[in-house]
Formats: sequence, C-alpha cells, structure tokens
Amino acid sequence: MENFFVNSSQPYIIAGPCAIENDSQFSSAVDTLSQMPQVAMIRCGIWKPRTRPGGFEGLGEKAFAIVERQRGRYPRLRFCCEVASPAHLEAALAHGMDAIWVGARTTASPFAIQELSEALRGTDIQLLVKNAPSPDIRLWLGAIERFRQVGVTSIAAVHRGFDIYNNLGYRNNPLWQLPIELHRLMPDLPIFCDPSHIAGRTDAIAQLSQTALDLHFDGLMLEVHPTPSEALTDAAQQLTPVELTQLLSSLVCRTENTDQIPANLQELRTQIDLLDHQLLQLLADRLQISCQIAQVKQQHNLSAYQPKRWQTLLDDRLAQASGMGLDQHFVKTLLEMIHAESVARQEELLNNKD
Ligand code: PEP
Ligand code: MN
Repeated sequence: MENFFVNSSQPYIIAGPCAIENDSQFSSAVDTLSQMPQVAMIRCGIWKPRTRPGGFEGLGEKAFAIVERQRGRYPRLRFCCEVASPAHLEAALAHGMDAIWVGARTTASPFAIQELSEALRGTDIQLLVKNAPSPDIRLWLGAIERFRQVGVTSIAAVHRGFDIYNNLGYRNNPLWQLPIELHRLMPDLPIFCDPSHIAGRTDAIAQLSQTALDLHFDGLMLEVHPTPSEALTDAAQQLTPVELTQLLSSLVCRTENTDQIPANLQELRTQIDLLDHQLLQLLADRLQISCQIAQVKQQHNLSAYQPKRWQTLLDDRLAQASGMGLDQHFVKTLLEMIHAESVARQEELLNNKD
C-alpha cells in the first residue's frame, strides 16, 4: 500500500472535527477542507474516549455512512478515524478507512495494544500511534514495536503532549524532548504533531505548529469545526476553516542543515560545544563536592536531604536567573534534576555500610 506519510517536502496535513456530530456539520467541514490543497487527510472522530460518562461519545458506527458520502464527493482526500478495540478496527476496515489512529489512552494500555495488534495482523492499513498521556516514552515505543511485530509497515507516531503536574498553560505539556528522543531511537519513523490537543486552546496552535515543523516533524493533525463554539467536544481548541487557512499560510518550512554548513554557524556551534563541555565539567565538580558533603553529614548524623537548605538554594538561584534572562520554569526544572541527583548520590554514600 502507498505510504501517505513520506516522500513529501511539505508537511502532511490531517484536519477535521474532533468528532463527527451530524451530516451537515461534517459535510460543511469537508467542503471547506477539500478546498485547501495542503490538507491531505480528514480526521473523523467516530468513537470519542471521554474521561467521565455523560458527555457526547461520538455517533459510533452510524458515522461511517456520513463519512462515505464525503468520500464519494472528494476522491482526492483520505479519511482516518480513531480505533480503541478490535471491534472498532473491524468496522473501520469494513468501511474502507484509509488510516486509523490509536488514541493516547489506548497507547497507555499494553493489553489493549496487544489485542489491537493481533487484530491488525495481515492488514496493511496506515497506522498513527499517539503517545500515552504519561511522559513515559517506553509506552509509545512499546506500542509501535507491538504493531511492527505483527507486520504493520506503515506506522507514524503522533505527539499530542503529556499530562504532567505543570502543563505550562497548555492542556498538555509538549515536552518536546520526548518526540526528539523517539526520533533519535527510530529515525525512519514519521512523526506528526497534534497541536490542538497539546494547546487545548486555539491561540497557541500556530506557535506549536511552527515549533513542530522547526523540529522536523513530518506533519500535523489539527482539529477544525465549522462552528467551534457549538462543538459537542473540545470546543475551545477547534479552529474554524478560516483560521486553519491562515495558519497553513503562515507556516514556514525550514530545512535541516546537512552538507553545507555556513561558516558563521560553524563558529557559533564551536562555542556551544565548548560551553557544553564546561557545563559537564562543572556538573562533575559539583557532584564531587556533594560527595565530600556526604562524608561530613555522616560524621554529624545529618540526612542527605535538607529541606531548608534546598529552599534557600532554590530561592537564591531563581533570583539570580531572573536577572539573566533565563526562564524560571526551565531553571527550576534543571535545579531540581541536579539536586535530585546530588541527594541520590549522598543517600548511596550515607547508606553504604562497607
Ligand atoms: C482525539 O484525537 O480526538 C483524541 C481523543 O486525542 P487523544 O487520544 O490525544 O487524547
Ligand atoms: Mn479532540
């Protein structure tokens, strides 16, 4: 089967409503999306995973009739839907969907992924795998590996952000280092970004989309609704078709520099290399002192973790950072990691009975 996700210098755009609500809502969405040449695939929410019962859970199988009407009208477009179980998959295959995606909550469950992969054996549908809500890249990798094991060849990952305690004002924290790490581990795997579910609000979607392209993502999955304020699900994050047109025309595709590196870029990179080496040396020196501190603590029967000292240190460094143009959240996260490593080393030394 043709692989929709590769061989394109332009980002692959998947767009459509969070959920298919009725025939006129979907046909209005597809009518406008069909006029945007960049849009290659339509997302069709057929079964909606809702955290709590009582909300709109999608039209279910009867939505396929609505999709089929649009497929007939727009043969250029591809159509994809979420599946969470072998029964969903069977229905999606029976109705000729071009691609399916596995949602975040499904990726979080290895049992569900195993069942789905068994059901996918022998099929050649395009498969998109969203990351699990928790920032554990192994769940994402594990799902992709399980699908590959049963012979699915056309797989792409979808980055939809992570639900952690600090989401930076977004619905989900992008934690860009995780898709970057996924790309490092699986360089041939296409990766999409779902800025709609990361942002949770429309005003942040353009910036997130541009960041994704700058990080060499292969495509975007965007939620679009003819009248977002009336949407039955995810009303705050769905773009109008006009907003999507504006967004698509504002995106800049920058290339990864490979062969010819400009001389001034090379010079700046040399400086960065030097600073990184210095940073690592400083961290090693700091840890060395921390080990000496552990000996003193042992002599005086003091615990490794000293809450008051930690609070004073944090306040001092954050105050320093604010005068240096450094982001407070970034510095705090960095210090927390350094401190946690230091406490762990001291713990090891204090509890080493030899
Ligand atoms: C969706 O794409 O409609 C969806 C439910 O997203 P996620 O699985 O990322 O929460
Ligand atoms: Mn949604």
